Amino acid sequence: MHHGIKKLLLLGAGHAHLHVLASLAQHRPADLDVTVLSPFAQLTYSGMIPGFVAGHYAEADCRIALEPLVRAAGARWVQGRCNGIDPVGNAVSVTAAGGAQGVPATLGFDTLSIDTGAVIDRARLEVDMPGAATHALAVRPIEAFAQLWPQVLQLAQRQPVSLAVVGAGAAGIELVLAAEQSIRQQGMPGARFTLVTGGPEVADSYRPAVRHKVLRQLKRRGITVLREACVGISAGEVLLSNGARLACDVPLLAIGTHAPPWLQGSGLALSDAGHVLVNAFQQSTSHPHVFAAGDVACRADTPHASSGVHAVRAGPPLAHNLLAVHQRKPLKSHQPPTNTLNLLSCGTGHAIASYGAWSVEGAWAWRWKDRIDRGFIERYRIGPRPAAQASGEPVS
Ligand SMILES: Cc1cc2nc3c(=O)[nH]c(=O)nc-3n(C[C@H](O)[C@H](O)[C@H](O)COP(=O)(O)OP(=O)(O)OC[C@H]3O[C@@H](n4cnc5c(N)ncnc54)[C@H](O)[C@@H]3O)c2cc1C
Repeated sequence: MHHGIKKLLLLGAGHAHLHVLASLAQHRPADLDVTVLSPFAQLTYSGMIPGFVAGHYAEADCRIALEPLVRAAGARWVQGRCNGIDPVGNAVSVTAAGGAQGVPATLGFDTLSIDTGAVIDRARLEVDMPGAATHALAVRPIEAFAQLWPQVLQLAQRQPVSLAVVGAGAAGIELVLAAEQSIRQQGMPGARFTLVTGGPEVADSYRPAVRHKVLRQLKRRGITVLREACVGISAGEVLLSNGARLACDVPLLAIGTHAPPWLQGSGLALSDAGHVLVNAFQQSTSHPHVFAAGDVACRADTPHASSGVHAVRAGPPLAHNLLAVHQRKPLKSHQPPTNTLNLLSCGTGHAIASYGAWSVEGAWAWRWKDRIDRGFIERYRIGPRPAAQASGEPVS
């Protein structure tokens, strides 16, 4: 038996940590002191952000308030960002966020759990795409993107804009279709929309049947597809790898994300791409008192794509294991699913659904996605429903 209060530190209030907090609200041992370090008072749910851009949702519809969840879990919220981890000295260095006062420079822990998501590393971005950090609107951090999007809409109401989304994965596809929908409805006529793929085909990680459906939607909506890499962005222009310059008032970056640079040099075992390497218990392969889930982590045994679905699925085993470590009970392994339901919203009340080799599209698929996404938000909203009932997952 251990003695005294033990400290559990949760870094980031990402998808998996929502479940950890909901579980703690149900049962938190009296000798477990829980702190959550997160820069924002809410989680902005990325799955609904294309719907926000399209005009289906208000920004508030896409948010889960953190403070009520933290309170229900008997935890403490520190408003700040982690900028370094010392897993041997059991300390995390902290930068205050949102103007918070009295934030400690370091936080100690006995057990650490990391769910801070992925980032767009501005230093790497500047090397790959000079000018992008200054002139483009990046989709991450998602909170900043959601706050800045109304300014794009205002610009589009004053002049016919040329908008280009750089990145043709799920987020880029959903965003260009959503932007086209809302600007065509609310903006000046004559707006132009482009999707810059980076070189490969649109939706290249999807099966051909889904890709075909996406390409048909883009064509129907008059969105130009450029199969070139973006190699720089300047005021009013996107520079392409073939030397062409695309006139562009609004460049949106929906490129692949990076691991947070502050993990480098921490001493934690990292994947080649710099994510926290974890085993089947979502436990660091180098430091057993450190756990990680979501986009910041990489499973050493079964690497899988990053997605909100995977982050959510890791929540229950993570919650179990964080308590099990404290109570010296056996850990539970987590088997990530091979296939997950994928719903791509097209902005017009239409979506493309796929699961493995199966794919279909229609208005009903959009209503399905809408119901699942709203359900996810409601389950973690503290109000009439107790947080302890939380469960469920978004779709990808
Ligand atoms: C436009 C868009 C749409 C998407 N749609 C879907 C979808 O429909 N389905 C799907 O499965 N996936 C979707 N994704 C992918 C999905 O967003 C990510 O895979 C998911 O957010 C990962 O969850 P997470 O818990 O790892 O991190 P996040 O959800 O990013 O949460 C991380 C949390 O940590 C906080 N944080 C960040 N840095 C720090 C720090 N240094 N210190 C402390 N806290 C920090 C953040 O503020 C945030 O609260 C979408 C992505 C985008 C961009």
